[in-house]
This record gives sequence, C-alpha cells and structure tokens, in this order.
Amino acid sequence: MIIFGTRGVNSTIKSGEFNCPQCETSKPYRHRKVRKFFTLYFIPLIPLGSKGEYVECGSCKGTFIPRVLDNPGNADREEFMAIYEKAIRHSMVMIMLADGVIDEEEKKQVLEIINKFGTNDLTMADLETYIDIVKKENEDVTTYLEKVGPSLNEHGKETIIECAISVAAADGHVDNSEIELINEMGKSMEMSSAHLKGIFSERLPSKN
Ligand SMILES: [Zn+2]
Repeated sequence: MIIFGTRGVNSTIKSGEFNCPQCETSKPYRHRKVRKFFTLYFIPLIPLGSKGEYVECGSCKGTFIPRVLDNPGNADREEFMAIYEKAIRHSMVMIMLADGVIDEEEKKQVLEIINKFGTNDLTMADLETYIDIVKKENEDVTTYLEKVGPSLNEHGKETIIECAISVAAADGHVDNSEIELINEMGKSMEMSSAHLKGIFSERLPSKN
C-alpha cells in the first residue's frame, strides 16, 4: 500500500527581536513560512506552493501577520519624538540667537514651528524661559540633530532646514552667521553641501 498526502512544512526565513503586540515588549521572533508539500509515506517530497507567512513570538508563542515587524515599538517612537522635538526646539532657538538680536517676528515664527512639530502647546512665556536656558547651556546646535539625523529621511531633514531658514528670514534678512549655522545643522544630519545649497537657492533666491 502506498501512503501519500499533503502536509504543511514550516521554515524560518528570519529571526530577531521585535515588539510583540501581545507581550507589549521586545521579544525574540521567528518569521516563518509555511509551504504545502506532497508527501509519500509521510515524507515531504514535492513543494506545492506557499500557504503563507507568519511571525511567531518566542515568548508567548503568539502568531502575527508579518507586518508587525514593520512597526517600531511605541517606546522607541516616544523616545524618538522626544528627541526630535528637542532637536527642533533647540536648533530653532539657536538660529534665532545666531545674529545676536532676538526679533519679535523670529519669536513668533519659532513658536509656530515648535508647536507644529511638537506634542505640547508652548506659550510665548514658555519660549522666553527656554531661550534663557539655551543661552545658559551654550550647547552646540548639532547636539540633538546628530541623534535624530540617522532616523530621518531626506524629506524630514529638508523640513528642519527649511524651518531654520524661515526663522532666519523672519526679521527680513538672512545674514552669514545664520547661513553658517544652518549649514552646520545640515552637516550634522549628514546632508551634502550640494543638497543644502539646493535648499538655500530655492528658499532664498537672492542669496545665490
Ligand atoms: Zn509575545
């Protein structure tokens, strides 16, 4: 008697750490693929095609659609947002301080940008306090940008540079100290000088 049939065979495509939706923390996973095989005497012989893929948590053994691997953990996202907000806030205030004069228009522009990208609404009084902190700290403009740069795509980096240019231009003129600082910001996010030049010529045609 010949015994034949079909059977699903699991294989691991990839493994690593992921943010398990069930454990709600980082756990090891296996990304598995199921293939249907033609079997003879229970031995899988001929692959009959894929039956699908899933991700299995090594801890709770829960299985999930492969897309769970695309989602960064909430903790990571929160941490990134916190540092991103700090980068925006810090660099915009630094730009404002670059020419030595804090203009009312610049302040309004900075407040608008910070509130656009941040999760908390900042008041003008909050901003004044923060300006004093930045003045005292005397930290480099690149401090936070270096940390967010690697996680940002080209568009994200361009947005920060464009915001900086709009702050610099808010008082009616962009001077060299401001341009220098903006270039420094771009370099700390590993943008090329050609890329930066392109953004400048688009935003400030008269300067080129
Ligand atoms: Zn789990």
